[in-house]
Amino acid sequence: MSESGIAVDTVAEEFRVAEEFRRLYGAGPEGVWAAPGRVNLIGEYTDFNDGFVMPLALPHRAVAAVSRRTDQILRLHSADVAQGVVQLDIAALEPRSDTGWAAYPAGVVWALRAAGHPVTGADIHLASTVPTGAGLSSSAALEVVTALALNDLYGLGLTRPELAVLAQRAENAFVGVPCGIMDQMASACCTDGHALYLDTRDLSQRQVPFDLAAQGLRLLVVDTRVKHALGDGAYAARRAACETGARALGVRALRDIPYAHLPAALDRLAGAGQSEEVRRCVRHVVSDDHRVERTIALLDAGALRAVGPVLTEGHASLRDDLRVSCPELDLAVTTAVTSGALGARMTGGGFGGSAIVLAEEPDTEAITKAITEAFTTSGFTPPRTFPAIPSTGARQVRL
Ligand code: ADP
Ligand code: MG
Repeated sequence: MSESGIAVDTVAEEFRVAEEFRRLYGAGPEGVWAAPGRVNLIGEYTDFNDGFVMPLALPHRAVAAVSRRTDQILRLHSADVAQGVVQLDIAALEPRSDTGWAAYPAGVVWALRAAGHPVTGADIHLASTVPTGAGLSSSAALEVVTALALNDLYGLGLTRPELAVLAQRAENAFVGVPCGIMDQMASACCTDGHALYLDTRDLSQRQVPFDLAAQGLRLLVVDTRVKHALGDGAYAARRAACETGARALGVRALRDIPYAHLPAALDRLAGAGQSEEVRRCVRHVVSDDHRVERTIALLDAGALRAVGPVLTEGHASLRDDLRVSCPELDLAVTTAVTSGALGARMTGGGFGGSAIVLAEEPDTEAITKAITEAFTTSGFTPPRTFPAIPSTGARQVRL
């Protein structure tokens, strides 16, 4: 393993997963698939408001060896969990049944079958290099790798966005986490060297070239090691506030409020007696959608460095308006910016997890050092830092 936790030799890792499958289940797998985690460059808490996001896939990924079964049995095993094979009857899968980690792949089987797809049993063994609970979408990687494997093995012919929607359904309805569509779309649709500009209303997308190295830049991920727990209701509360705001403004979703209309919309909400919390959430979402548009314009113009301040602005909005940051994320962002980064922000759901830092390549070492020192001084656990290299989305691996 490298310092970042990525297996240096990805092919060796794929063989290991296939070999472990053979040891567990007595025969080699029909195939091996991989699906990555992600960081989101900009557009946070916008995906459940029909808004815009811009994630990129990480080299960190979930790798799954999978075979079909002709009966109704689903056998699941993870190299990363100290638990033996979990065996489930797919005809008896119940949403919200407490199956622990297995709920993510089992939920995908459930969602595929609920949508009428002819999927029967399967044997699955997986291993992942995506840190869990770090805001890097280890859950989506698990879901998407399962969905793509079953799609390919059962010849379902579903598109990447269709698989992402089913994976999201698994997480929302089966696992019980009210996430938006960004994570699954990123894992399913991102491509090497690009960020994915995604409209979460109609899932239209554009691959935006994001070649940092060619411009002498780096995007760093700072994993604060503070575990986020989106299930604790805070995420759902923000979501509810956004829905209240949209209803009060008479729009289908906050995405329908143009940025130029934001001041008037906020006045209207105040006049209608809506709480300050609702108004702050509306301000965040509408302004972050705008930041995605600004970022796209800058990337299209080749002005990568100018994206930095947009990221930092986005962080302030998440911290002050949406209030989903935490002291560790704030310290990482502030320290990065004061030690020479072009910009920084938290990424993902917040309340812990990871920040991203855009910096000149030669400055990254000093910035990383400054962040680590600041964490030590504050008595925080030292963060884990690694470069976000825009990587490939889900795919079948050829052994
Ligand atoms: P995130 O997606 O940001 O990493 P989540 O809380 O959404 O955080 O998902 C983390 C959960 O996904 C874990 O608690 C575990 O149940 C499951 N998970 C992720 N990776 C693995 C893995 N390699 N093996 C087993 N379960 C995993
Ligand atoms: Mg997740």
